[in-house]
Amino acid sequence: MIPPHDNSGVIPTAGEGCSDYQEDLVRFVDGELQGTDLRRFEQHLETCTECRREVSVFQSLKGELQAMGMKQPEIPGGSVWNDVNRKVARPIGWIFTITGFIMYLVYAIYTFVTSSGNLFEKLMIGLLVVGFVVLLATVAWERIVDYRTDPYKGVEK
Ligand SMILES: [Zn+2]
Repeated sequence: MIPPHDNSGVIPTAGEGCSDYQEDLVRFVDGELQGTDLRRFEQHLETCTECRREVSVFQSLKGELQAMGMKQPEIPGGSVWNDVNRKVARPIGWIFTITGFIMYLVYAIYTFVTSSGNLFEKLMIGLLVVGFVVLLATVAWERIVDYRTDPYKGVEK
């Protein structure tokens, strides 16, 4: 979607053609707007109070969303939520995720075992899946051990 280009030199009044910039506005706030799109939008911003207002609204909204994440430094007023998030919400999230995963696994195994199909077929697929998971786990474990026992790997002494 390309917004209509205005070459007449007439300064557009607030609100004019703003719907064309809706997509650009979101990308601008996300820092994804680049090149000619960025220049065009910035030009529009200079002349459009309506879009400037929307940009600031989006930016404050974005800031609040980031405050809920872990990377954001502590903000006055937001620190309580950060604390709750770190101490309560995240462990609960993990517990739910892991519990759900295990339940799903049990369910999947149960349906697999009780499904029709001959035993040999089940054994074959079962071995294949288990073997693959074990391989993955050992590779992952090696990586973790490597990382822990030798944090200065590749650093010349
Ligand atoms: Zn506008």
